[in-house]
Amino acid sequence: MEVFGSSGTRGVVNDSVTPASVVELATAVGAHWHAAGADRIAIGRDTRTSGPALASVAAGTLASGGLDVDRLGVLPTPAVQAYAATESIPAMMITASHNPPAHNGVKLIGPDGLELQIDTLEAIERRLDAKATTDAAWDALGEIRTVETARDRYVDRVVSAVDRDRIASADLTVVIDPGHGAGSATSPEIFRRLGCTVRTVNAQPDGHFPGRDPEPVPDNLSDLRATVDSTDADLGIAHDGDADRAIFVDETGTQIEGDAALAALADAELSAGDSVVTAVSTSRRLGQVADAAGARVEYTPIGSTHIVSRIADLESEGRSVPIAGEGNGGILFPAYGAIRDGAYTAARFCELIADEPASQVVAPYSGSHIVRENVHYDSEAEREAMLEAIASVAEASGATIDRTDGFRLEYDDGWVLARPSGTEPLVRIYAEADTADRATDLVSEFETAIREARDVVA
Ligand code: MG
Repeated sequence: MEVFGSSGTRGVVNDSVTPASVVELATAVGAHWHAAGADRIAIGRDTRTSGPALASVAAGTLASGGLDVDRLGVLPTPAVQAYAATESIPAMMITASHNPPAHNGVKLIGPDGLELQIDTLEAIERRLDAKATTDAAWDALGEIRTVETARDRYVDRVVSAVDRDRIASADLTVVIDPGHGAGSATSPEIFRRLGCTVRTVNAQPDGHFPGRDPEPVPDNLSDLRATVDSTDADLGIAHDGDADRAIFVDETGTQIEGDAALAALADAELSAGDSVVTAVSTSRRLGQVADAAGARVEYTPIGSTHIVSRIADLESEGRSVPIAGEGNGGILFPAYGAIRDGAYTAARFCELIADEPASQVVAPYSGSHIVRENVHYDSEAEREAMLEAIASVAEASGATIDRTDGFRLEYDDGWVLARPSGTEPLVRIYAEADTADRATDLVSEFETAIREARDVVA
């Protein structure tokens, strides 16, 4: 897939993502769904400054292609997915997820409410390549209407899908940090309705992201940690820009690693014979949890598209996949829906902390060290040189090499992965080992070679 990266299409607004590129994409999307028999499509967006303009461009294009358009306004991606599923219509979500404020992009959703799988994305890409046009007659154009009910329907859906009594009886105080993104519109109410005392930081929807950038990484969550600490809260919950991810802070104000939270949730969910789907960048702690439960880990390339596709494949083979996801807070519970839902994930985590503090819930999964590093590039030539350097380091390493996504080197005491980002001009390096020093060394091996290779070209 050229156009669609690991999580849809994203880029800097008015650079790689322009009104013209949205028209081209929406034309191809509209033609695809029209040919598939659809007569209506939904559009939602996150809080980015470019959202209203790009959503309007998409809406006009889709209506010109003969589809009625339901405009849902600012909503989390999982809320748009829930609307698509209950209405049995496809949807477009205008979001750049966790990318910086200057970015925007599109996630494509099918009438089953799931992110489109690879074969459908490829079919739409072929229409893009063929420069699809619209041929709807003047009296067959679609209508555009505003739908106000999708937000409340989504809040109801999350609240009724979890064990509300268990959460409410624990009398939890939670601090919610939606990072000025789409979760601002929904998560505070969801957790109030679950019986929690709710405090918030960065919870006014604002596409300038004045309090923090949309990515819920530790560097961006100092306000959340401080607020949890100073208010004696039981849990801090952070979302990314479209609120399909949840990252946690424990009751002491300490950041909980995404991989530790995933392992804790998986431990509660997995039984013998189950499968859990995850990406090659995920901590081996998930593998240890699966082994102990008698479950099997299925590894995919990084990105929710691959994970959703693999879940569908496994379920069609009759396998049970109760949980899936990555250590970045993007977790799927297929019984609820093969979607990533930050509020639902956080509510499930609240079930776990109803009986013991968050720090104790994750303590069994905290004994390993993950180090991540990004190396930027400015040109295709630099990118190529960096990828060649990765291959050389891998060949010379003597480690077991896994090529599921990039190069992952397996050692007895850890692993390291290097791969180009699917959404940004970066090569990402991840390593995990028993000690932080060893993990840092593993990253350095790739990082030094990659930087040198880039700088020779630059
Ligand atoms: Mg996201």
